[in-house]
Amino acid sequence: MMEETTTREGAAREALSEEGRTYAPHEAVIEASRCLMCEDPPCNVGCPAGVDVRRFIRKIRFGNFRGAARLVRDANLMVGICGRICPQEMLCMERCTRAALDTPIDIAGLQRFAGDVELGETAPLPEIGRREGRVAVIGAGPAGLAAAAELRKAGLEVVIFERSEEPGGVLTRGIPPFRLDPAFTEGELAYVERLGADLRLGEEVEDPVSLLDGGFDAVFVSAGLWRSHAVGLEGETLDGVMLAGDLLTRVASGDRPDLGERVVVIGGGNVAMDAAATALRLGAERVYVCCLESREEMPAFPSEVESAQSEGIEFRTRTRPVRILGKDGEVVGYEGAGIRWKQPGLLVPSNAEDVPGTEFRIAADSVVEAIGQGVLTEFTSLDLSDRGLVRVDPETMETSVEGVFAGGDIVSGGGTAVQAVADGKGAAESIVAYVEGIHESSGSNIDEGAPGNELSVFEGRDAEDNSEERRGGGRK
Ligand SMILES: Cc1cc2nc3c(=O)[nH]c(=O)nc-3n(C[C@H](O)[C@H](O)[C@H](O)COP(=O)(O)OP(=O)(O)OC[C@H]3O[C@@H](n4cnc5c(N)ncnc54)[C@H](O)[C@@H]3O)c2cc1C
Ligand code: SF4
Repeated sequence: MMEETTTREGAAREALSEEGRTYAPHEAVIEASRCLMCEDPPCNVGCPAGVDVRRFIRKIRFGNFRGAARLVRDANLMVGICGRICPQEMLCMERCTRAALDTPIDIAGLQRFAGDVELGETAPLPEIGRREGRVAVIGAGPAGLAAAAELRKAGLEVVIFERSEEPGGVLTRGIPPFRLDPAFTEGELAYVERLGADLRLGEEVEDPVSLLDGGFDAVFVSAGLWRSHAVGLEGETLDGVMLAGDLLTRVASGDRPDLGERVVVIGGGNVAMDAAATALRLGAERVYVCCLESREEMPAFPSEVESAQSEGIEFRTRTRPVRILGKDGEVVGYEGAGIRWKQPGLLVPSNAEDVPGTEFRIAADSVVEAIGQGVLTEFTSLDLSDRGLVRVDPETMETSVEGVFAGGDIVSGGGTAVQAVADGKGAAESIVAYVEGIHESSGSNIDEGAPGNELSVFEGRDAEDNSEERRGGGRK
């Protein structure tokens, strides 16, 4: 039995290691050579982090792989991470002109390749600007880390407070390791600490305003969404019922729970897709996703739904959970019923009504609930939505309290990693201006102007860049 368990755990460990492969150099050059080098590249507009897609592809095409990695890192420190997890089919790639000829350029694949050539833990650092001021960042997820990197580049002192013992947020404690290896993520994110940010792990902040009182000039709140919601079903206390957030965090930390042979996942978002794919890799033979939405209505990225289907995960769409069935304190099954929307387009549980005669039962060993994430710490000193999300001025990302800015999932209610990066960058720009204002009025700002912020990325320009410049093309 012991041996069997060990073998099963070993198989799960293997199955959960990172999948997908990075291009070999010659393959990357071939893919990059398909790029049409559009005059006004629509792919650039599709990147929330502002990566100059055409230019980094051009560098790959000419064999300047490190130059490509550095160019991307200048705009988005998560080069290889976003190369792995960005839903490119909804962003840059969706707009790619090449799609009209045959297939769009695999932009994320090329970015993954560039990121793997040079990780953040070894990438050259930009020169750091010189500015007076101290900023606190709450949360070391993509939004907080991106903000911290920009603030450091500008020369401000930065302290990141992170409640867990690991940086990365969802990247290291949510997204399963077969999609994004946490060890790789840590190597990539080491860049922020190398820039000089002071990362304080295991330190939870309850009130951002207390940090202003404690001597920080500004605060960036990027605490994400770390409370998993339970459905509130009959049978929810049985052994074998768990929240998807807990399951994914356990798996990300190296735990390999045995979910049994038949697993039901409730929910239709990305977290549900990750939980279902994880259950499969933990050894489940049949995995069912049960959700209120139809295939087209599901909030999960289409690529995630397709991938789940191609792996044999079964869907019971437009259904609602009725109860979890148990015997001797353990889960033995799941009961659901078909629904229709009372008011079309309003995809919320209160708008669902049962379709008579559609009740069904599934034999199950485990039920995983993935119906949404909420705010863990409510920052009540700030103006909040009724879900506890932080309200900001969309232009400046400033909250209702002067000097406190916010971004990422705690503002959007759940988005993408690259959007969190974009929020962090945008907020950092506002924070730099705000802190400069404070120190200018006190006469202590020693900003010597921007040249220090030019990245070494642009040193030693290569032939293809010079030719572009001579023609007067290229984005700055
Ligand atoms: C399972 C899952 C899969 C996903 N898959 C994808 C994907 O494939 N592609 C994609 O682009 N996006 C994906 N996303 C979304 C993406 O990960 C998030 O949008 C992104 O991580 C948000 O970044 P953030 O920095 O706002 O928050 P987070 O990543 O949540 O980071 C917030 C950090 O703040 C810390 N924190 C919380 N409260 C406090 C406090 N009071 N004091 C100090 N620290 C605190 C947390 O511990 C955490 O480390 C996924 C999300 C989940 C949950
Ligand atoms: S839109 Fe496509 S073809 Fe045009 S520059 Fe961007 S990646 Fe290249």
